[in-house]
Amino acid sequence: MDNLDFFEILDEFAAQPGLWLYPAIVPAPKGYVDRIMADGEVTVGEIFTEMIPPEQPEPPEPASALIITKEGMYEEIVMGSRRGGIRWDEPLIVQVCCWPYEDGSGTEVSFSLRQRGAPHTTPWLHMRTLYPSDAVRTAQLNTKQVYAPYLPPTQAQRLWTLLDTAASIHGHRPRQPFTRHPEDAELEALVSQGPRAECVACGSTAVIFVAPQAYQCYNCGHEGGEGFDDYRERQERQQYAQMPLPVRRTLTLKDLRSAYDDITSASQESDWRFPSDRDLNPKPVGFEASRTMLSRYKTFEAIGAAMNKTPEYNQLLQPLLDFKPKCIGSNRAKEMADMIKDVYDRIKADHRDH
Ligand SMILES: [Zn+2]
Repeated sequence: MDNLDFFEILDEFAAQPGLWLYPAIVPAPKGYVDRIMADGEVTVGEIFTEMIPPEQPEPPEPASALIITKEGMYEEIVMGSRRGGIRWDEPLIVQVCCWPYEDGSGTEVSFSLRQRGAPHTTPWLHMRTLYPSDAVRTAQLNTKQVYAPYLPPTQAQRLWTLLDTAASIHGHRPRQPFTRHPEDAELEALVSQGPRAECVACGSTAVIFVAPQAYQCYNCGHEGGEGFDDYRERQERQQYAQMPLPVRRTLTLKDLRSAYDDITSASQESDWRFPSDRDLNPKPVGFEASRTMLSRYKTFEAIGAAMNKTPEYNQLLQPLLDFKPKCIGSNRAKEMADMIKDVYDRIKADHRDH
């Protein structure tokens, strides 16, 4: 453990271009090489065949960088944007969580940072690292997996000293995550668990999972994975949950209004029917037909959006969504429009009463 104080560490960090953050932690080949070279005479060939088994994944490319200056710190994403800045001279919230691996091979420790009193819309600055399980105070930390890029474990102690001091100066003493300070060699041998992905849009491996099955590419910005829509919806629901009901109700009424407009514009082309799988010779789908289809899909998107805003009315809204197969595949748009209007009127009446 070094005894550098806050300003010394800050000076050191500020002199560097930044700390790389990675999509995964894999054993650092350089660390192994250094260690073995120090132990005695071995050839480079021996090191690579012995220490880096062929199935070991390539070290990932960095996803982003933590830029640390004398004023503060922020995450710079490779595609050029910044995220979640903090300042050292203002009160800081530092949340520390841990996520022990079941097999005991390590524990993820995450740091989430935000300026005290920042508006709700300000994003947190999240990062995590990986430590030997017996070096983490798991009993005193919240257990939660935070999906964020990894800071190399060998850098974690110095960064922690910085965060701890910066928060403490303003009177907030964060929970202490570490019980001991392992040697670099021990830290370099750790391997993170969880999926690694390649961006389907650009092929980059600078891909961070933001939730199970949902990832974001830090290289091109592509968001994907089977769970991404769910993740986005959860985020949206959390945002709306902070707004008072009358405001959300107004937004829901607006959604229903546009759902109604879409479905009624679609229902005018009443002769058209979407070709089902059973149609051996489906009619070619012309311009009008695709326009109709699009309007119908937009209708259901708007209903889904309304449900995220006012879960209080899901009992009324869900039947509309359940009607989707009947409405999309066949020609019951008029019926659908009537149902939407009915729900709209009921929510509107509620709105006037309260
Ligand atoms: Zn990409």
